[in-house]
Amino acid sequence: LSKRLPLRGTQDELDRLSNTINHMLDRIAVSYERIAQFTADASHELRTPVALIRSNAELLLMSPTDNQRTAEGLSDILLESEYMARLIGDLLTLARGSGSDKSIPMELFELGESIDAVIARARSLAETKKITLAYRAETQIVPIRGNRDIFERLLMIFIDNAVRYTPQEGHIELTEWVSNDLCGFIVRDTGIGIAAANHQRIFERFFRVDTARTPRDGGFGLGLSIAKSLVGMHGGTIRVDSELGEGAAFEVAFPRADLKKVLMDSAQGAR
Ligand code: ADP
Repeated sequence: LSKRLPLRGTQDELDRLSNTINHMLDRIAVSYERIAQFTADASHELRTPVALIRSNAELLLMSPTDNQRTAEGLSDILLESEYMARLIGDLLTLARGSGSDKSIPMELFELGESIDAVIARARSLAETKKITLAYRAETQIVPIRGNRDIFERLLMIFIDNAVRYTPQEGHIELTEWVSNDLCGFIVRDTGIGIAAANHQRIFERFFRVDTARTPRDGGFGLGLSIAKSLVGMHGGTIRVDSELGEGAAFEVAFPRADLKKVLMDSAQGAR
């Protein structure tokens, strides 16, 4: 590089250097965008054939057969195609989140209301392992600007994990919180916990902590990377607090919507 661009410090050379770097950055951004688009397209195209395999296997399983081997084969096809359908869905969400998808509609919603909507599903999931689920709500109204469906999906990822990595009869606590300009939730469990060395890595795609205690139950290691991208769409952050064997707490923080500003903007828009 020093041969091609001798940095004697003239403005001309510095300009050329910064132009080159900017050009390279643009090209990297374009390639990245293409990869995300390819993943999105490929996952989207795979959805239909996998759905067809699934429904056909379901149909065939319903029709009577006395051939044990056929029935077992069909069950396997059904199981694997369900597994693939979930994986495709996850990849699609990830690709959409990492591309510059500006089409996600943003709305104003209330944090507690949205958490309430998830709680019912979360409770029945927790019950499958006799895990108790406590919810501590804020008494005040907490407005957020974002996409409510995506927000609820996000919350469910943390609850799903809390249930998955907490043994039978454990405890999960979901707390809604609010401060001056931030708000969010904490999902705390009494499960197997995560060693500090893995706190960063668990957000990487396909990473799963490999210990004898980690249940092998069909997780892909994509949940938290999806969560990270969904939180990013809302301008928020995730923090993990955990030690191995000591349970885990995931805290998500979002900017709180400024209700006064929203009202003023909409009043101005109406004029
Ligand atoms: P998955 O749960 O499908 O494996 P995730 O990306 O959601 O994928 O999580 C990555 C890894 O982080 C998990 O495999 C698990 O090892 C660890 N992990 C996530 N949540 C928890 C939790 N609440 N308690 C303990 N370990 C967790």
